[in-house]
Amino acid sequence: MSPAGALQHGAVMQQQSRDEKLFRVAFESSPCGMVMVDRDGTVILVNREIERLFGYAREDLLGRSIDTLVPQNLRAEHPENRAAFIAYPQIRAMGAGRELLGRRRDGSEVPVEIGLNPVETDDGLCVLASVVDLSARKRAEEELRRSNEELEQFASVASHELREPLRTVASYVDLLERRYGDKLDSAATEFIAIAVDGAKRMQRMVDDLLSYSRVGSRGGEMVPTDSGVAFDVAIKNLGAAIAETEARVEHSALPVVRADASQLQRLFTNLIGNAVKFRGTERPLVRVAAARDGAFWRFTVTDNGIGINPKDFERIFVIFQRLHLREEYPGTGIGLAICWKIVERHGGRIWVESTPGSGSTFVFTLPAGPEQ
Ligand code: ADP
Repeated sequence: MSPAGALQHGAVMQQQSRDEKLFRVAFESSPCGMVMVDRDGTVILVNREIERLFGYAREDLLGRSIDTLVPQNLRAEHPENRAAFIAYPQIRAMGAGRELLGRRRDGSEVPVEIGLNPVETDDGLCVLASVVDLSARKRAEEELRRSNEELEQFASVASHELREPLRTVASYVDLLERRYGDKLDSAATEFIAIAVDGAKRMQRMVDDLLSYSRVGSRGGEMVPTDSGVAFDVAIKNLGAAIAETEARVEHSALPVVRADASQLQRLFTNLIGNAVKFRGTERPLVRVAAARDGAFWRFTVTDNGIGINPKDFERIFVIFQRLHLREEYPGTGIGLAICWKIVERHGGRIWVESTPGSGSTFVFTLPAGPEQ
């Protein structure tokens, strides 16, 4: 090698060793677990987070099969999966939507997310797996699920138990009016009317609260459901309000979706009911339409009513939130909260678009059913 060549070679070597040092530092200090294996699945590199996560010292892992970190019941299929990755190496998540578990030294299992990266090295193709510890997230999810369940349980029991004494109050005040109405002065008659109204309102709220608390716990099965049929049931439920306001309710072709039929009816009933209730001065016109959106159908319920101020777009879906006085528009403020829960349970989304004074469009998505 000429002196110039040797100099160049030295510079390249220096650069390479600097790169390797940097790689080692980044690899070692990553908050994500990193483990590199060769094409046979032998561990050739691990970082600190892997030691912490799996409870092994690195000397115990280096040179051993990666299967050591795989739960016992999945070990049999793991070599085959590894071979499949080596045959088609590309950056991808492991497990394709499945919940993955890793096996710790003490035999316990830890929920993880794993990303696989093929790496071409001087010694051939290797696989770099990045492992994220999901146990804190899983714990938080579980805690949230449990506290939601408790809250639902509480609302369900409380509203159920409130029904009976409420019915007693309502029926005795009613009796008072019927039996002694002609002996009472006008002020007493008015007080009784107010009490009857209050009891009835509370009964409606308790019923709605009970329905709200049962969306998750008493929901039916998700099956292919004709949304056109659900629409028809909603129109029947709203017969009196539609006749009274002379509302026109139109719809385009409505698809089959994967849904709980009775909750879908409830969804249409609440949204079309609101579209008729929050009408402006014009005769109500409601249009229901559906358009395909990937794996989902996107439904729209459009009205020509009073509209909603954009600052209230989110608030109206919160339980008991109303934008109007009871005297202006009756209601309990639970209808849209129920809609939200129903759509969420189906894995869809719901939101509103509106210009105050020019009507509103409620939009929701539901997973598509089998192709027709
Ligand atoms: P409720 O109808 O019992 O008041 P909801 O939860 O169904 O309760 O609706 C919450 C609030 O959202 C309503 O009080 C109303 O202010 C507003 N809202 C709902 N639907 C419409 C609509 N189609 N047009 C205008 N405002 C609406």
